[in-house]
Amino acid sequence: MTIVPKVSKRIWLSSPHMGSTEQEYVKSAFETNWIAPLGPNVDRFEQYLQDYLQNSSKVAAVSSGTGAIHLALEILGVSNGDEVICQSFTFSASANPICYLGATPVFVDSEKETWNISPELLEQAIQQRISATGKAPKAIIAVHLYGMPYKVDEVQQIAEKYGIPVIEDSAEALGSKYKGTKCGSLGTLGVLSFNGNKIITTSGGGALVSRDEKFRQRAIFLATQARDDAPHYQHSAIGYNYRMSNVLAGIGCGQMEVLEDRVSARRNNHKFYEDSLGSFDEIEFLPEPEGFSSNRWLTCILTPSFSIREKIRLALLEENIESRPLWKPLHMQPVFKTTPSITDGTSEGLFERGLCLPSGSNLLEEDLERITDIVKEALS
Ligand SMILES: *Cc1c(COP(=O)(O)O)cnc(C)c1O
Repeated sequence: MTIVPKVSKRIWLSSPHMGSTEQEYVKSAFETNWIAPLGPNVDRFEQYLQDYLQNSSKVAAVSSGTGAIHLALEILGVSNGDEVICQSFTFSASANPICYLGATPVFVDSEKETWNISPELLEQAIQQRISATGKAPKAIIAVHLYGMPYKVDEVQQIAEKYGIPVIEDSAEALGSKYKGTKCGSLGTLGVLSFNGNKIITTSGGGALVSRDEKFRQRAIFLATQARDDAPHYQHSAIGYNYRMSNVLAGIGCGQMEVLEDRVSARRNNHKFYEDSLGSFDEIEFLPEPEGFSSNRWLTCILTPSFSIREKIRLALLEENIESRPLWKPLHMQPVFKTTPSITDGTSEGLFERGLCLPSGSNLLEEDLERITDIVKEALS
């Protein structure tokens, strides 16, 4: 006798969600033979992003969010021996490019209202590094994690006090707003990601945003092998091959047409979860502080303990539903064992007790019902 495993439809944490026009843009790339890391779709995609972000944003489309962070650091002059402050509670890609440049990250813990970089600990970290090394960190990487804006004004004020530029990691926060201004357009340099699981996708891609055309020009120069202005190939700087493909930018153009729909769908998922699970003592959500608007890229819950978190995660997994513990803080990662960090236990607690629920914009109401039924059952 063969045992037939229980197979119900797989529900992913966050899967790509195409609109209706992406293929037309891609087709036009083929028809015009712009199969290259430049072309009309790249120009168009950058324009669509600029129009969306407003706030005088200048956008350079690149091959990944990670590449955009790398370029941002390079543009700000980060090099061997420098220190760069980075939010500890984030995905490793926020910090990896610091190491590509031979610089050292300094990790700073989160506060409890947004789960992002704590302004108090940030200032402590800056002062501590100045007394330890005699110089200020070269940049601050702050992250709008899960789409929730960080405390932009407070972070900006400290950054200005010490004259340190801010790299705004908005990889998870396209469509979020801080006091009415779009995330991605708020830092000295802003970073977007269009990876497959993000709010919109080009399958893989990213963008660097700034309000200074000189920064954009520099980003494009560095992203296209740092070629000097000469008829032959001449280089007086080390460059990268980081520009976005015109084929993939076509997907991005189509995705920009549905971005607002994607944001509402994700926010509706969050509302559904809150309405359905909000009355349980074991489940807490992260509310939006006054003036903060999150795209709710992923809906996260906080449980009272690791064991309850795991009970929910495993119950979902058994039913072929993907959920994921919150990001493991970078100061806890084996690879960053010896990295300086200023922490107070906040992100460690979030990591232990928090879970991301499926949050794709293509989830159906019946999917959300299936998920919440299982969570309720696990808690009963
Ligand atoms: C996805 C992500 C990145 C990296 O973007 P890629 O396009 O995948 O390279 C950086 N930071 C955060 C917070 C992310 O979630």
